[in-house]
Amino acid sequence: MKLVDLHTHSTASDGTDSPAGLVKKAAAAGLAAVALTDHDTIQGLDEAGQAAREAGIEFIRGCELSTSTDQGSMHILGLWLPQDCASLEGFLDTLQQDRSRRNRAILEKLDRLGIKISMEELEAKAKSSIGRPHFAALMQEKGYVKSADEAFREFLGINGKAYVPKLSPRPEQAIRLLAGLGATPVLAHPLLRPRPAGWLEDLVRNLGRIGLDGLEAWHTTQNDADSSRIIALAEKYGLGLSGGSDYHGENKPNIRLGVGMGNLAVPEEVLIKLKARRKAGGLPC
Ligand code: AMP
Ligand code: ZN
Ligand code: FE
Ligand code: FE
Repeated sequence: MKLVDLHTHSTASDGTDSPAGLVKKAAAAGLAAVALTDHDTIQGLDEAGQAAREAGIEFIRGCELSTSTDQGSMHILGLWLPQDCASLEGFLDTLQQDRSRRNRAILEKLDRLGIKISMEELEAKAKSSIGRPHFAALMQEKGYVKSADEAFREFLGINGKAYVPKLSPRPEQAIRLLAGLGATPVLAHPLLRPRPAGWLEDLVRNLGRIGLDGLEAWHTTQNDADSSRIIALAEKYGLGLSGGSDYHGENKPNIRLGVGMGNLAVPEEVLIKLKARRKAGGLPC
């Protein structure tokens, strides 16, 4: 049976393959289908969709939304985004505007600390949206810190001297928005961070009530025991299962499309079951 990859990143966010390049690679690797799920943007989807038609591979329009909880960040994948996503685009624009405000505020704080970086330098560094990793890279290049780690610890991280929080939605808001568009909301890499016992189950139960449709049971960072735990949770709350590599191109060079670090395999059957859930709910795919 062929494999699919339902979690990937292109240059539209923090990957290094163009959306079209990524889709071509997925087709060349023999995958039956690929979803593009860039962080907080849908800008790569049209280009990727066109490339998929040319390469003859099934393509799923997606995104990965960052949300915050009382236990840190949670990522929500939206799969089968419709062509018209005006409400999502409005939401993403608001986040982007808040990012610009925050980047200016970080620059001012750094300036007062004697660290001279300009917006132009940041823009040159970032292929798409500017974030703290770009600040860290510049600070290192200019000799203000020895490593990105030091940049985060001393300046950019939550306890750093130039920390500025950013607007971050709650998972409920992301789920409602995605479900409202007729997309399939999936909780990404549910076990990426350790959380108190029972916390994840409470979250899954609550989000399931407002439209969460699946859990990412297979992911590069998850072993067989993790997958089994997630599958049991999904069964308990009547949710579907998804899986993907979280491919980022050269930004995460040991993760390959479709196979992750070599031992990931998401069979086409997983996609077929997700589509059956959509059909049962009257949704297109
Ligand atoms: P931003 O979206 O601008 O808040 O930046 C978030 C990104 O910064 C994350 O995706 C990480 O890649 C990176 N990051 C966050 N905390 C750290 C840290 N302590 N050390 C290195 N990178 C970090
Ligand atoms: Zn990423
Ligand atoms: Fe993620
Ligand atoms: Fe991701």
